[in-house]
Formats: sequence, C-alpha cells, structure tokens
Amino acid sequence: MSAIDGLPPLREVIATHDLSAKKSLGQNFLLDLNLTAKIARQAGDLAGMDVLEIGPGPGGLTRGLLAEGARRVLAIEKDARCLPALAEIAAAYPGRLEVIEGDALQVDPLQHLTPPIAICANLPYNVGTELLVRWLTPESWPPFWQTLTLMFQREVAERIVAQPGSKAYGRLAVLSQWRADARIVLSLPPGAFTPPPKVSSAVVHLRALPEPRFPAEQKVLERVVAAAFNQRRKMLRAALKGLAPDIEDRLQASDIAPTDRAEQVSLEQFCALARTLA
Ligand code: SAM
Repeated sequence: MSAIDGLPPLREVIATHDLSAKKSLGQNFLLDLNLTAKIARQAGDLAGMDVLEIGPGPGGLTRGLLAEGARRVLAIEKDARCLPALAEIAAAYPGRLEVIEGDALQVDPLQHLTPPIAICANLPYNVGTELLVRWLTPESWPPFWQTLTLMFQREVAERIVAQPGSKAYGRLAVLSQWRADARIVLSLPPGAFTPPPKVSSAVVHLRALPEPRFPAEQKVLERVVAAAFNQRRKMLRAALKGLAPDIEDRLQASDIAPTDRAEQVSLEQFCALARTLA
C-alpha cells in the first residue's frame, strides 16, 4: 500500500534501516500511518504551528504530523540509527522537518521553534513523566507551548486526568489540571505497537490555560502537594505538619478538614492552602 507522502511503508523502513526495537530506549513503534494521522489530528489544527516531537523513531507520527499540515516539525531523537529514515522524510517535505540527534532531557528546543507551538509525541515511557512535569512547571506562565498531545501508559494517562476521591488522583493530576485542560482522547491496546508493550496506552491532550485556574505560587503548591501525597494515607494534619507549626489552622482557613486525606482535597483547596503558606 503506498502512503500519501510517497514514502515506503514503515515496516519496509524498519527493515531497510535495521531498526530492531531497543527496550532500553522505550521503543514501541507505531507502524500504521492511519493511526499516526489520527493521533496527529488529536493535536488540533496544526496549520501555522511548529510542532515539537520527542522520539520520532522511524517517523510514523512525524509523517502523520506533516501530512496533517504542521508548518514545521522539530524532532529530537536519541537513537542515531533512526536518522537516515528521518532524513528521507525531511527530503519528502522540504524545509518542514528538522531533526536533532540527542537526549530530549538535555536539548533546549526553544531556539529551533517559532510560536505558536504544539508538542506531540509517542513518548519513550522512561522519560515521559519527567518531560510532562517539566513542560507543566516552567518558570513563568503561559508556557512556550499551547497544546500537548502525548501518548502514555494508560495508568499514567489516568493519573493526569484524575479527579479527587479516586486512587489515581495525585501530584500529576493537580499539576496538570491547575494550568491546563486535560483529557484522554484516544485509547490504544498493546497490539497497536511493534513490539507490543505489556500494558495499554492512551493519548492525553492538554491545552494550556492563559492563567492558572486558581491563584497560587507554583513552588509552594508543589511543596504542599508533594508532602500531602507522599503520605497519602495519613490525615493532612500529620502529613503536612512539617510545613507550618500551625498547619491545622491553615487547613481550616483553606476550608480543608485537618482529618482529611490528600485524595479528598480539590485543586481549589490545594491552591487556597498554598496561598495561606506562601
Ligand atoms: N514516535 C515513534 C513511533 O510512534 O513509532 C517512536 C516512539 S517510541 C515509544 C519512543 C522513541 O523515543 C524511540 O524512537 C526512542 O529511541 C526515543 N527516545 C528514547 N529516549 C529518548 C530521549 N531521552 N530523548 C529523545 N528520544 C528518546
């Protein structure tokens, strides 16, 4: 079956360039171009946007992003074996794909990108959460990106969109929902990937809010939430006692019962508590 970009099917690309998947790099490839185009579409209208992609691998999602009209794609890939396959895509889309060989945790992509910027990736699982937290906690808000469309293990995706009262609710939910709208837009079974991972996956779409949903200082909020969920089974008056000697009063001033546990506290209440501790 010939693809709309005139490039070979991904199975052929993998065979030609000998891209056997490496577990250490979290390599679970998407080889169905209809599926990668569908994921790219979850990012919204990409015309006029630069897209940052982490871990393009053999380039299935990269091709989806370009075919769906991204103005430019900047792709950061750690595995040098993938570069020749990505060069073929760059040649098919002149001037629209730049590839940087490197570790996404080390490379600063900003000087290579022009706003507006979307981030879209089938993330390597070993660095996915760390990158998400970095993107959610820049020094100032709004961030350099407008949307994040990211593949995660299903369990991580559920933690991002979780509501109070659920087991999945924790630091990731508070950080994600404080300054972004977050929702799961696609679920994928292990068989969608080559090789199939052990668990199911899901694509999460986050849209940055122009301002935080509730006022709070980021560093204080992070400290409160980390302390609260590090001991999530404890009552908050115990879990947070290291933050202030009069923590019970501050909890009450924030409309939180000192006997509550972290799981029961809403985002609005966490922000109120952070304000009393600022
Ligand atoms: N995007 C491709 C797809 O959907 O088929 C590949 C996805 S695979 C889950 C993750 C990709 O991230 C691999 O190509 C891997 O080599 C790359 N990778 C792993 N760690 C990385 C890092 N620290 N920085 C950049 N790329 C990384």
